[in-house]
Amino acid sequence: MLRLYYEENDSVEIRKVGVIGAGTMGNGIAHVLARNGYDVILCEVAQQFLDRGLATIRKNLEREVAKNRISAEDSAAAIARIHGVVDRTALAECDFVLEAATEKFDIKSEIFRDIDQICQPEIILASNTSSISITKIAALTRRPNKVIGMHFFNPVPVMKLVEVIRGLATSDETYRSTKELAEKLGKMPVEVNDAPGFVSNRVLMPLLNEAMYSVMEGVATPEAVDEVFKLGMAHPMGPLTLADFIGLDVCLDIMRVLHEGLGDPKYRPCPLLVKMVDAGWLGKKSGRGFYQY
Ligand code: NAD
Repeated sequence: MLRLYYEENDSVEIRKVGVIGAGTMGNGIAHVLARNGYDVILCEVAQQFLDRGLATIRKNLEREVAKNRISAEDSAAAIARIHGVVDRTALAECDFVLEAATEKFDIKSEIFRDIDQICQPEIILASNTSSISITKIAALTRRPNKVIGMHFFNPVPVMKLVEVIRGLATSDETYRSTKELAEKLGKMPVEVNDAPGFVSNRVLMPLLNEAMYSVMEGVATPEAVDEVFKLGMAHPMGPLTLADFIGLDVCLDIMRVLHEGLGDPKYRPCPLLVKMVDAGWLGKKSGRGFYQY
């Protein structure tokens, strides 16, 4: 079993992991943890969100059974390892906590202040945030050395990458435990330092933003821009299709984090993106973005 390092030669076993938020990412993370033998406490704000998350995990596990990737017994055992709660105090039993709640600083700051009180002082508190500063979240707690970014990618059961983000105060032991946990889940951790957008979104989002400028300036249609990237760069999907899948509101939020955090005009959100979000054209989830769904 994986160990949690909290002093140089001292460690505890990680058996039970708390996951906060059962949305797109939280239910995927709980799924992968349970599939790999960890007990999971999945925490939501209301029973209906918890039920929806658990139903998604069940459906995704059934799909794995249908594809012969996992036996029906292992699937049943995985689901039995996940215990859903709406009372956060249940996280006191956990050996590691991973927050995957809504991407709003106010929500995350309330959660981190509270779990810092609830959880044992030696355990690591990780966040799956895509853009909020790990250093800032860590500073809200009494254990900034035990706070780290553990950034999974969607869909979590499929995507190999975990960006492991070290805040200014994150200790080497915290990094090591988090990296080992990612490896135990069959993922490939990549170490990065805390900076706006980390590496993934700092590099990806300006590409999507520039593709939007190309459309706005009439250089090419969305279809043509996407074809260039699929055929010329072997991308599995073009940047505008990808932006529609991520959600145009999410893309805009991240561009604003980059623009504000790095202070460089090269990160200015494309005016067409701003206009589409204002119109409620948010991509696939709203039925309309650069394409119609
Ligand atoms: P989501 O909206 O699908 O799910 C968020 C969930 O958090 C909701 O079910 C909500 O009820 C719950 N929640 C809100 N406040 C809570 C609280 N106080 N306690 C417990 N649960 C709470 O969002 P998501 O896409 O799963 O994103 C979650 C996190 O993962 C965000 O930080 C996001 O930036 C990050 N992320 C998302 C993606 C992605 O592609 N969607 C990829 C990587 C990282």
